[in-house]
Amino acid sequence: MVPARLTQLVVCPICHAKLRINEDFTKLRCIQCGKRYRITDGIPVLLPGAAEETLNFPAGLSDL
Ligand SMILES: [Zn+2]
Repeated sequence: MVPARLTQLVVCPICHAKLRINEDFTKLRCIQCGKRYRITDGIPVLLPGAAEETLNFPAGLSDL
């Protein structure tokens, strides 16, 4: 279980805005840019390269 106060300690590594945690404590989402970050074993993976876009990219872009 991730303490609720975690979201007061961590910020988005890309835009440095606050992050919000989801209901089941598996993801953090930036309130500004919308990037999502996984929480693995209670540890948020706050790496720009690990960010998941909330918006979908055009199909095929990830296949490059
Ligand atoms: Zn952000």
